[in-house]
Amino acid sequence: MAEEAVLPKLDPMPPEMIEFTLLKTTGALAPRLGRIALAGRQNMVTPAYIGNTSRGIVPHISQDNFRKTADINGVYVPLEDFIEKHPQQVPPVLQYDVPNPLRRFIALPEDTLLVLGARRNPPIAGASPNTNTEVGLSTSVGFRSLSSEYYAAAVRRLQPDIVVALADIPFGQQTIGSRRKDKMSDRTETWLRDMIACKDTLDQGEKSWSIFAPILPLERDLQSWYLEHLLDDMVDHISGLAIYDTDLLDDLPLQLHHFPRLSLHAPASPHALLRQVGLGVDLFTVPFLAEATDAGIVLDFTFPPPAKHESTSTRQILGIDMWHEDHAISVRPLSEGCTCYACTKHHRAYLQHLLAAKEMLGWVLIQLHNHAIIARFFQGVRASIDGGTFDADVAAFDAYYEPALPEKTGQGPRVRGYQFTSEEHAKKGKKNPTVYKNFDAEKMLGLKAAHGQQPNKKPEMRHVFDDQALLGLVGMEELGIKADPDLPLGGLRLEHDGKA
Ligand SMILES: [Zn+2]
Repeated sequence: MAEEAVLPKLDPMPPEMIEFTLLKTTGALAPRLGRIALAGRQNMVTPAYIGNTSRGIVPHISQDNFRKTADINGVYVPLEDFIEKHPQQVPPVLQYDVPNPLRRFIALPEDTLLVLGARRNPPIAGASPNTNTEVGLSTSVGFRSLSSEYYAAAVRRLQPDIVVALADIPFGQQTIGSRRKDKMSDRTETWLRDMIACKDTLDQGEKSWSIFAPILPLERDLQSWYLEHLLDDMVDHISGLAIYDTDLLDDLPLQLHHFPRLSLHAPASPHALLRQVGLGVDLFTVPFLAEATDAGIVLDFTFPPPAKHESTSTRQILGIDMWHEDHAISVRPLSEGCTCYACTKHHRAYLQHLLAAKEMLGWVLIQLHNHAIIARFFQGVRASIDGGTFDADVAAFDAYYEPALPEKTGQGPRVRGYQFTSEEHAKKGKKNPTVYKNFDAEKMLGLKAAHGQQPNKKPEMRHVFDDQALLGLVGMEELGIKADPDLPLGGLRLEHDGKA
């Protein structure tokens, strides 16, 4: 097929279709600025990120905080989070008989872009294998399968703004044979066709949506069947691309270059994000945000990086572990200079206390901060592309910061069934270790003595009140907080050295 760029279409798009305008680009696989516009939604200047949701919300960010505090213009919502009752029952979201049922079901603001996919990003591997007609899913109660027709019908009902068409990808499989690769290409072609066919049968006045076509994590010649058909007779029906392996972007046919590119290739670090931006990816979900938050890690990086001091040879960390004992009595903000809600209202010692006490607010505050950091990161990325300094800024970023996020040390929030891989499910023992437990009798007597309490004279009342009053102290002794009651703030010190 001839490799020539397709001229921009002159026909006006229907109001429900997204419109993507390239504002600045320097080459086929170069960083680029674009704008995604859709009637009724906030315009999004790309490169940008969208919120990665779990069960309809960005983890830890309630709907009111989403509106008030978080600067998130779009979200990615996987259908597998909602259909655990399928096929025995019709899932509640599909019974919801209102306009824009999915948006209403998850209480998403009207002006936030809603992207629906079949699977989470990144998906849990090991779901039942895909067949010619069905994709294996991992729901909150176990593995299920989803047919291509069901997915298209669900999309028609749920009315997202953008839908990522089904892709046949054997997630988690280390080696994929050549016959299996052929099947990936064949099935993805059929399933994309199903989605387009469903859209073509929409009634007059029924709300439509934009389709993002998957680009498989395969070399170009191995998905040539699919790509040829995509270019021959489906290209006019799609509005964007979902990229599963950004390292293979140079295989992307030129005729597809003007489409917005959503990355479903989870980046491990900000460096990996920058690499994808450098290849011309426009939209991202950033799974490492929530992973860092759950680990109690406060992200701490900016793009472009600050000017490097000549005297320091060590690279800066990308995030601060709030579990570290250094923060137990520190009243410094989470991240110096950050203007987010968490950093302007609270300090590190309080954050560590919240984490140690398993108080939900701890993760809420870190998540708000981490999203503020990534929003500013993308602002910096766009300014850098606009100013023509992107490559130099990336080199400076690589030299300034450590190559990876810090290791997780502390315990995260309570994990749910759908957050486990199947191997973890198979392991014996409790998934969430018991946090609170009673002291033995001897320890209780010691504690009571320390508080000036005598054992209750009525033996039957001994464990009723006193034990409860002390429960809040359990588990705190490992924190190493040595408060000095003679000093103001119990010995908490104010620090001014400006070092992390
Ligand atoms: Zn902050």
